[in-house]
Amino acid sequence: MYLVLLGPPGAGKGTQAKRLAEKLSLPHISTGDILRQQVKDGTDLGRQAKEIMEKGLLVPDELVAQMLDDRFNNPDIKKGFILDGYPRTLPQACSLDEILKAKGLAVDLVVYLDSSDEVIIKRLTGRQVCSKCGANFHVTNMPPKVKGVCDSCQGSLYQRSDDNETTVRKRLEVYKQQVASLIAYYKKVSKLQSLNADLGAEVVLEQIIDLSAQVK
Ligand code: AMP
Repeated sequence: MYLVLLGPPGAGKGTQAKRLAEKLSLPHISTGDILRQQVKDGTDLGRQAKEIMEKGLLVPDELVAQMLDDRFNNPDIKKGFILDGYPRTLPQACSLDEILKAKGLAVDLVVYLDSSDEVIIKRLTGRQVCSKCGANFHVTNMPPKVKGVCDSCQGSLYQRSDDNETTVRKRLEVYKQQVASLIAYYKKVSKLQSLNADLGAEVVLEQIIDLSAQVK
């Protein structure tokens, strides 16, 4: 199952992708996570991406496409993946098709997680991420059992530098400029399914699992 999760920042793509990856035994590939790791490691790509990410803008398509192509060389994607944060633009959707085609693969399903701006801003400005395993928490909606500590691996929780209200609004604006063409692209090939992501995480997870079961 080659599944793409589409939706605004804060729609719960990361949370859903993690749970789906576990349930379906597939790798969770998040371009945001890979880029953050590159920044942390101080690689060439990380140095180029850092400032762009802090402003809430998009890292150039060709850099992200190359990074993803490298990631797809890992044999763990043989049975599928849960892709989160890519594509974000129409050229990226075309690149994804090309990269996969060259490996004899194709996207099976695109799930669009729709969410309202108010919910997104509340979710992201209160989000806390585990520095060790990447699990997501929320100060009020999904607090950890012990403040500042991950429930699963006891790693310390932090707030992403781009999860402040100004950058979140910029990220939403950037997202809205691009999403219509992506939706049209996947609708045209009948791969798109939309869900209301303002519903609880468990409900949304079940709905995605149902949709994926209908595909394969
Ligand atoms: P995310 O973790 O998906 O919210 O991504 C965090 C940031 O990483 C974004 O605001 C972008 O700056 C960058 N990023 C992640 N994925 C992409 C992508 N597919 N194309 C360009 N930039 C990306």
